Amino acid sequence: MKREFKYKSPDGGITVMRTSNQGLKTEVVGNQTLAPRTNKTAIVLGAGGFIGSHLVKRLKSEGYWVRGVDLKYPDFGQTAADDFIIGDLRDQRIVSDVIFENPTEIYQLAADMGGAGYIFTGENDANVMHNSATINLNVVLESVKKSAGKVFYSSSACMYPEHNQLDPDNPKCYEDSAYPANPDSEYGWEKLFSERLYFSFFRNYGLNVRVARFHNIFGMEGTWRGGKEKAPAALCRKVAETSDGGYIEVWGDGKQTRSFLYIDECLEGIRRLMDSNFMGPVNLGSEEMISINDFAKLIISISGKNINIRNIPGPQGVRGRNSDNSLIQKEIGWAPNWPLQKGIELTYKWIHHQLEVSQ
Ligand code: NAD
Repeated sequence: MKREFKYKSPDGGITVMRTSNQGLKTEVVGNQTLAPRTNKTAIVLGAGGFIGSHLVKRLKSEGYWVRGVDLKYPDFGQTAADDFIIGDLRDQRIVSDVIFENPTEIYQLAADMGGAGYIFTGENDANVMHNSATINLNVVLESVKKSAGKVFYSSSACMYPEHNQLDPDNPKCYEDSAYPANPDSEYGWEKLFSERLYFSFFRNYGLNVRVARFHNIFGMEGTWRGGKEKAPAALCRKVAETSDGGYIEVWGDGKQTRSFLYIDECLEGIRRLMDSNFMGPVNLGSEEMISINDFAKLIISISGKNINIRNIPGPQGVRGRNSDNSLIQKEIGWAPNWPLQKGIELTYKWIHHQLEVSQ
C-alpha cells in the first residue's frame, strides 16, 4: 500500500510524495524538496491549527525558514510557512520524512483536542489519548535521530490535579503542584505523559527540550463553531448571534473560574522560553482569573447589547483554574500582562465579522 501526502514548495507548486509501507522510501513526484535558505530553520507541527498558524507568522517575522506540517491547511487565510506539508504525524514514516536533519527548532503543537464539549464528555477519550501520544512518541524519537537543536512541546494546564482546583476562588496551579497527579480528563493525562516523555529524552539522549503549560489561549483565527471551539470563542459567537433582549446559554452555574491568554502573549512566551536556558515545565497563562458568567457579561458589554445569561447543565471541567506566573517571571524575567478586555475585544470583533460574512 502506498500513502500519499502533499508538499507545497516555496515557489507555490504542489509536490505529491508517496510513502511506501515496504520501508521508509519516499518517492518525490515533481519538484524536489528545496533546501532551507536561511541559517535559522523551524518545523512547526500542527501548523494548520490555531496557535501553530500564528506561530508560523511570528517565526517568519523573525527571519526563520519555516516548514509547517498538519492534517490540514489553516482554516483562516494562507499559511505563512515557506513549506507546508499535509501529513499525518501518527505515521512514523511521515514524521521521518517531514523532520529534516539538524533543524534549529521544532515546535510540537499537533494534538487531537477541542473545547470542553470535546474533552470532557468522555466520547473522544480513546482518540485523544491514542492520537496525541502516538504523535509525541514519533516526534520525540525523530527529533533525536535528526539532531534537532531545540524542541518545544505544548502541554496544558489540564494536567494539574483536580483536587487542587475545587475552590473556584483559590485554585492551586503552580508548577510543583502537579504531583501526586490527578488530572480530570484523559487529555490532561496524555499531556502529563508526554511532558515526561520529552524530559526523559532530555535525560537519556540530551534532547534540548522546552515545555510550557498553556492556560486557555484565545484570539482571532481560532475555531469559533463546529464543536471544537473553546469558551472564549463559543461565548463570543453566542453573543454575536443573539439579538438585543435575548439570552445566551452558559454551561454550568457560571461560577467556575478560569484565566485566558491572548494569542500574541502566548507567542511571546513561547519564543522567550525557547531563547532562554530554562526548560520548564512552566505555566504560560494569564493571572487575571474570572468566573465564566462574568466573562460572558464582559463580552455582552463589548457587544453593546442587552443580553441575559441562562445557566444550563453541560461539561465544565474543574471548578477553578488560574495561571501562577511566579516561576516564569523568576526564570525568564517576563510574564503575560495584557488585560483580558483588550484581547477579547479584538476576538469578539473578529468573530462578529466571521458571522456576518458567513451568512
Ligand atoms: P488546534 O486544534 O487548533 O491545533 C492542533 C492541530 O494539530 C490541528 O490543526 C490538527 O489538524 C493538528 N493535528 C491533529 N492530529 C494530527 C495528526 N495526526 N497529524 C498532523 N496534524 C495533526 O489546537 P491549538 O489551540 O492550536 O493548540 C495547539 C497545542 O496547544 C495543542 O497541543 C494543544 O493541546 C495545546 N494547548 C492549547 C490550548 C488552547 O487553549 N488553545 C491550551 C492548552 C494546550
